[in-house]
Amino acid sequence: MKRASVVTYGCQMNVNESAKIKKIFEDLGYEIIEDIHQSDIIFLNTCTVREGAATQIFGKIGELKTIKEKRGTIIGITGCFAQEQGNEIIKKFPIIDIVMGNQNIGCIPEIIKKLNNKRNEHIVCTENENILPDHIDADFGDESGACVAITYGCNNFCTYCIVPYVRGRERSVPMDQILVDVRKYVNKGHKEITLLGQNVNSYGNDFKNGDNFAKLLSEICAIEEDFLIRFISPHPRDFTDEVIDVMRKNEKISRSIHLPLQSGSSKILKLMNRGYTKEDYLFLANKIKEKINGASLTTDIIVGFPQETEEDFMDTLDIVKQVRFENSFMFMYSKRNGTKAAIMDGQIEDSIKKERLQRLIEVQNQCSLENSQKYINKIVRVLVEGESKKNKKMFTGRTSTNKVVLFEGSKEIEGKFVNVRIGSCKTWTLYGEIV
Ligand code: SF4
Repeated sequence: MKRASVVTYGCQMNVNESAKIKKIFEDLGYEIIEDIHQSDIIFLNTCTVREGAATQIFGKIGELKTIKEKRGTIIGITGCFAQEQGNEIIKKFPIIDIVMGNQNIGCIPEIIKKLNNKRNEHIVCTENENILPDHIDADFGDESGACVAITYGCNNFCTYCIVPYVRGRERSVPMDQILVDVRKYVNKGHKEITLLGQNVNSYGNDFKNGDNFAKLLSEICAIEEDFLIRFISPHPRDFTDEVIDVMRKNEKISRSIHLPLQSGSSKILKLMNRGYTKEDYLFLANKIKEKINGASLTTDIIVGFPQETEEDFMDTLDIVKQVRFENSFMFMYSKRNGTKAAIMDGQIEDSIKKERLQRLIEVQNQCSLENSQKYINKIVRVLVEGESKKNKKMFTGRTSTNKVVLFEGSKEIEGKFVNVRIGSCKTWTLYGEIV
């Protein structure tokens, strides 16, 4: 039996697309394996969001060269970096057989057939016609969760982000198709469904039939099984009262809401083209917490964006202290060629970025610890993921608010919901026992 491996970089969207690539290879009769040294086909699913991505991917391609020399392995590259590079990457690395955009993975069977008939040919397939990609099943194995992409592309053009240039304009998947996929995964036993999009709450803006994100959530909640719905990422500008209302009424929707802030300064938010101010964000965060019982917010923050002054950074710290995020993904701004921010005046020195990031991390860690302490002596519902990697005696799972919980358990509870009384905590982890 031939073997295939998929190596994934980047965001949840790529993880989802890798699950589809694996399913395509399974259907072609390949065994999916992790060990790339034993593979007959290796696909790299790449990311281009950070400037350092190229170095990482070039390093990996270097490693593949020896594997190809030994086994004649077919090397494919897909994802945003492949989409952006196109033919250029083959000129740099002729060991690559296939270059394919995210949009084009449905062509894999045809391309593999072509390559098997005629080796030594390079195939480049990166057309990005701003149409919906072919519908492809994904295989999430025995994972407790499954993902469903509800939109592709993005219309927002945040000035630091390359995504709209490589993934094209926003296209929504028809609601009927999404509901079929969600039902299928729930019936297979997946207990957590994550809806994916660059901006999930602008879902349906390209339809003329009134379908929107609130309606989609409502329809998914009406599926009778016991499961949890998560979504990433919403854009604060498009978070409607209708969505808040659907969430308030439906406990099936996770209480963890990832609401990317990026900066607390209205001046920097304008330079980022985010479409909201500090005050708008605070108003929305407070409204969500007030209206949705048990809501907990996480966020993304960039420090050291061009022209960010100490005062602007203090606005970011101020918002973090006011909202008291459960967790934040915190980054130093890094230039991304091809974006407006990369050529803005007022680029910030690395030493200042590092210093600001450190101060931000300290404030955020304190908020995370305080949030964790609030769970002590409470009973929480946890979806059990499996044995803890660090401590085989313990099991791990997550609450609806996405907190990691460790507790003693046994194999039978994997993939099920259990109630856990929390006894102690660390900054990001809760410890308890099943009740
Ligand atoms: S919303 Fe902004 S940051 Fe997110 S993918 Fe679109 S352009 Fe990039």
